[in-house]
Amino acid sequence: MTAPARAEAPNRMVHVREERLDGDPPRHVHPGWARAYPWLVQGTTGRGGPDGDWDFGLSGAAPVGDSLRRWRLLQSAADMDRVVHSRQAHLDRVLSHDSGPPGLALSDGFDVHYTQRADVLLTVSVADCTPIFIVDCRRRRIALLHAGWRGTAHRIIERGLEPFASDLAAVQVHLGPAICGPCYEVGPEVHQALRLPAPCGPATIDMRSLQARQLVEAGVPAANVSVSRHCTRCSTDFYSHRGGDASRQLGFLGIAEAP
Ligand SMILES: [Zn+2]
Repeated sequence: MTAPARAEAPNRMVHVREERLDGDPPRHVHPGWARAYPWLVQGTTGRGGPDGDWDFGLSGAAPVGDSLRRWRLLQSAADMDRVVHSRQAHLDRVLSHDSGPPGLALSDGFDVHYTQRADVLLTVSVADCTPIFIVDCRRRRIALLHAGWRGTAHRIIERGLEPFASDLAAVQVHLGPAICGPCYEVGPEVHQALRLPAPCGPATIDMRSLQARQLVEAGVPAANVSVSRHCTRCSTDFYSHRGGDASRQLGFLGIAEAP
C-alpha cells in the first residue's frame, strides 16, 4: 500500500467523535451540534452492537417489512412527520423538499436533499461513503449529501452548497462516519477522476480530507467544518461495504422547530 494521495485537510478543521445514543434505532450524534442546536435532529444510525440488526437498506436482502419497521422506529425517535429518501445514483442531483403528506417518501436518483421546512427528516444510506450534513444556523436551512468518490468527482459538494451561497459564513458542515484514508485503497482511475495525481498502482485516498478541502475551497470557513473520527471499516459500530456488509446505515438530518 502506498502513502495517501495529496488531500490535506484544512488546518482548522475540527475532529469529532459522535456520541452514541443507545435505543431504537442506535444513533451516533454530533455532541457539539446537539448542545448548540436544540432545534436540529442529526445523526447516523449504526449496527447496534455485534448482534444488532439495523439494516436500513431498501434494495438488499432484508425483508421489506423488517426494513420498514426500522424506518418507522427512526421516524418515531426523530419525532418527524415526514421521512424522505431516494435511491441514490452517485451523481449530483438535488431534491428540495417542501410540503407533502406524512409518512415515508421515496424518490429515485437523488444524492442531495435540501429543506427549510420543519418536520421533514432527510436521509441518505451509507456504508463507507460520507454522509455530509450542512446546516445554516441563522436561517435554519439544511442539506444532506451522500458522497462517495463518484459524487465527489461530480462536485456534489458545490451543488449541495448552492442553496446556502448567499451566507456561507453561517454554514456548519459535518462529515459523518465513513471509510478512513488507510482503509480506502483505490486504483489510479479514481485518483484521476478526483483530479489527484495518478499513482502507478492502487493507493489510498482520505476522502473526507478531500471533501473538507472542497468545502473550504467553495467558501465554507475551515473552522465551520468538522470530521467524524469514526471509520466505518475500522469500527464495529457501523456497516462497511468494503468490510463485506450488504447492510446500510442512515445519515439523517431534520429541523424539529422552525425559527
Ligand atoms: Zn479505517
